Amino acid sequence: MSRNILIINTGGTLSSVMKESGLAPGLTSQDMQKDLHFVSGNTNLEIEDFCSLDSANIFPEDWSRLARHIAEVRNNHDGIVVIHGTDTLAYTSSMLSFMLQNINIPVVITGSQLSIKNPVADAMENCRCAIHMAASGIPGVFVAFNRKVILGCRASKVRSLSFDAFESINYPNVATISSLGMNIDEKAVPLRKGVFSLSDVYSSKVCMIKMFPGMHRSFLESLADQGYKGIYIEAYGIGGMPFVKHDFISTLEKLIEDGITVVVGTQCTYEGSKMNVYETGRRALEIGVLQAHDMTSEAALTKLMWILGMTENPSEIKDYYGINIAGELTENPQA
Ligand code: ASP
Repeated sequence: MSRNILIINTGGTLSSVMKESGLAPGLTSQDMQKDLHFVSGNTNLEIEDFCSLDSANIFPEDWSRLARHIAEVRNNHDGIVVIHGTDTLAYTSSMLSFMLQNINIPVVITGSQLSIKNPVADAMENCRCAIHMAASGIPGVFVAFNRKVILGCRASKVRSLSFDAFESINYPNVATISSLGMNIDEKAVPLRKGVFSLSDVYSSKVCMIKMFPGMHRSFLESLADQGYKGIYIEAYGIGGMPFVKHDFISTLEKLIEDGITVVVGTQCTYEGSKMNVYETGRRALEIGVLQAHDMTSEAALTKLMWILGMTENPSEIKDYYGINIAGELTENPQA
């Protein structure tokens, strides 16, 4: 039986053309129709334009709108492919994983490092992989890139130029394509925990900070003055932060007392935080920071935005943040 796949184009390099002002999205779904049909096998494709943006110009309101649109049309298709710029693709795939909880069809996000019109591009291969994952019948939000399928909330862009731009962080690939065809690792697909629910909310009062030696704690204080409700800090190693020359811990304690949610993760790409080991981490846990554990920064940040869009109650925020919602977190209460 032939599957019905919807392709939603949002822009990015895949649809780009060289303009006087530089490389920018410019191809419409009409312009790409022939190329996409070429790699779609025996699936029935429907293609539509959602926006035409370099993904640097994608903002949280676009995530909400996209989630709403996918929720509306999901029962008319067997799977959905979203064409997206690679730069913020992992933020979008993470947020859609939260907003489209327990989605009943595959939603596969892809892009490319070269325009689909470039004869040596990775675009056709990535679309082929995405369309075939979308036709797999396996529900969830995924990223397809360079012959790999990654769980949406575990994807991160790790290379700026190479075709192998995305990796699955602290989690196995959901599928790989080799001479044996598409091999799907069913164990890497999180089980659906209930019926589909759309939750397209977010808080725009969330920021992400990378800690560096010499960073001034007054910077954190200024965030409170600006009305931020949530801060995600990429701290050092397994989640350490300073308290000797600049006492970040007491500054954060004050912010937490004022009702700001502080989440601490790591600036290391792999293996996550484990803040109960060093004094520099334990002190932070004692004052009530939440921990990102093995989440990607993209998932840790978007999860915080999403939860703060739903509630401002500190104990609900804490409970929600510690739950594995879409496969983004390996739950480990001891750490
Ligand atoms: N700047 C582009 C974007 O994110 C890069 C890409 O798509 O590869 O839209």
